[in-house]
Amino acid sequence: MDIFPVKTTQRNQFVDITSQVQKYVSDTGVESGLLCVFVPHTTAAVTINENADPDVVRDLLGTLEKIVPARWDYRHCEGNSDSHVKSSTFGPSLTVIVENGRLQLGTWQSIYFAEFDGPRNRQYWLKVVGR
Ligand code: ZN
Repeated sequence: MDIFPVKTTQRNQFVDITSQVQKYVSDTGVESGLLCVFVPHTTAAVTINENADPDVVRDLLGTLEKIVPARWDYRHCEGNSDSHVKSSTFGPSLTVIVENGRLQLGTWQSIYFAEFDGPRNRQYWLKVVGR
């Protein structure tokens, strides 16, 4: 397993980590296998979505704010319950197929580190298995 830092700059933010993840896979020399991305936080997550039109990320974040408002009848004393709900909505990990040393992503897909309680110094963990 290898650990990679992410410095987020906003409370809610999607950071495209696809090129770093691909570099990690390339550096391992694995040609065929599975890549796991794991986010060890309870107010952040990882997801795959469109990379071509930045309005998609903007609309995702805007829709999340409507579905999971920052202020509601939450009880968690830390004041960031919306961040925890958003984190569990996306989940902490992804698996991506690796073939010919390349992440097998669709044409418009990128891997995003999803921050829901930034700005913070975060990390994600990567592990690739294969041959
Ligand atoms: Zn909390």
